[in-house]
Amino acid sequence: MSNKCQNLKSNGREGNVDEHRHFLSCRDCGLGQIFLVSPLHFNQLSFILWVMITAEEALNRILSHIQPLGFEKLSLLEALGRVIAEDIYALRDIPPLDNSGMDGYAVRSEDIRDASLNHSVRLEVVEDLPAGFISQRIIGRQQAIRIMTGAPIPGGADSIVPVEETQKEGRFVSIFCAPPPGNYIRRAGEDAKKGDRVVSAGDLICPAEVGMLASVGRSFVAVYQRPLVAILCTGEELVDIDEELNKARIVSSNSYTLAAQVKDCGAIPIQLGIAKDRKEDIGGKLRHGLRADVIISSAGVSVGDYDFVKDVLRDLGTEIVFWKVAIKPGKPFAFGVMGEKPVFGLPGNPVSSMVTFEQFVRPSLLKMMGHRRLLRPIVEAILREDICKESGRRHFIRAFVSYENDRYFVTTTGAQGSGILKSMVKANGLIVLPEDRETVRAGEKVKVQLLDRNF
Ligand code: AMP
Ligand code: MG
Repeated sequence: MSNKCQNLKSNGREGNVDEHRHFLSCRDCGLGQIFLVSPLHFNQLSFILWVMITAEEALNRILSHIQPLGFEKLSLLEALGRVIAEDIYALRDIPPLDNSGMDGYAVRSEDIRDASLNHSVRLEVVEDLPAGFISQRIIGRQQAIRIMTGAPIPGGADSIVPVEETQKEGRFVSIFCAPPPGNYIRRAGEDAKKGDRVVSAGDLICPAEVGMLASVGRSFVAVYQRPLVAILCTGEELVDIDEELNKARIVSSNSYTLAAQVKDCGAIPIQLGIAKDRKEDIGGKLRHGLRADVIISSAGVSVGDYDFVKDVLRDLGTEIVFWKVAIKPGKPFAFGVMGEKPVFGLPGNPVSSMVTFEQFVRPSLLKMMGHRRLLRPIVEAILREDICKESGRRHFIRAFVSYENDRYFVTTTGAQGSGILKSMVKANGLIVLPEDRETVRAGEKVKVQLLDRNF
């Protein structure tokens, strides 16, 4: 169900917006006017009547349309950063045998019961046992085996004395402590028992998981696929990096920012290039992206005379689910579905584009790749300056967060115009100011979405 105004009245009755000629009015969406609608202008008008929704509602509605993709098999290291799609079980105990947790001497604890710093006990060293070998011996009374960390415990021994608590004297060793049975013995299966599930479907494969998968002998694993994300930038004024510029033209930085954002969250960007503000060009280039899993368009989703993106998307079979979200920057964001395929119409201003990608596209791509945690971490930080804001929309303020004396502090990265990409370059977070807030004062605690986890 879309967020078109539900209170349209047509000729005094509840409206049917598909009829050709109507007087339309709305009680709730703020227009409160009567429109004369001709078939020609009907599409345009129906877009004006979209009701702005909250950021939460927008994200919920988007995510309800997003499903994880299928699986692919990857070699272990290639799977780093991906989400595993199968449960993995230990095929044997890890470690397979009781083994030493220290370099030292394997002993019978009863032989050294009376040992202390002042009263050492002498044992005969009958073997030197490196890691990777199993001793064939069973140690007898007053005997010890020199043992390295990881070597399986020899028969007869029940305790390990660390080398620091001993002194070697030829064939003998003096022991200066009396550890209990089990001292520094790592038990078979203490990491995983045969049959234990060691990694679960849906887990993110980080270095620890890579190690565990290696431990259980998996050189290949099934992971969720990465979406192909087609990106089309639109705008008469745009050129690509190496194309000729004049003063009315700008480089289409969004083409690269968006591709970088797609890559950054692990998906695969496909750059469809730049379309002029003409329906045929937008449609023609978008068609090249129809095989992708996701479509992103940039710009042309406002109410300007040349903002054709939504029309073209609709012509290509996209059902627009909503348009306009109560956020700043990024209000004219549009979301639709082309069959199962999510379609994101991002506003053209470079910061609006980045912020709406962060809020709505990134969680969607993560969900497609099987991730369970879709959102950036949020911390509370102490604001270092006043911020003026009007109520009504949620603001995302570009900011720099620091961690000092156990607390987070945050300061804005300067002018916040939605065309000022520099404000993102300097930022490592976005201050999230609620819809109902107005001016926020220095010293207040604010919520900050962290875009970068390192401090
Ligand atoms: P629009 O959404 O088409 O109204 O564009 C809003 C602003 O964003 C305009 O100033 C555009 O020049 C700028 N803009 C649109 N697309 C891009 C792009 N791909 N790269 C950089 N700036 C853009
Ligand atoms: Mg434009």
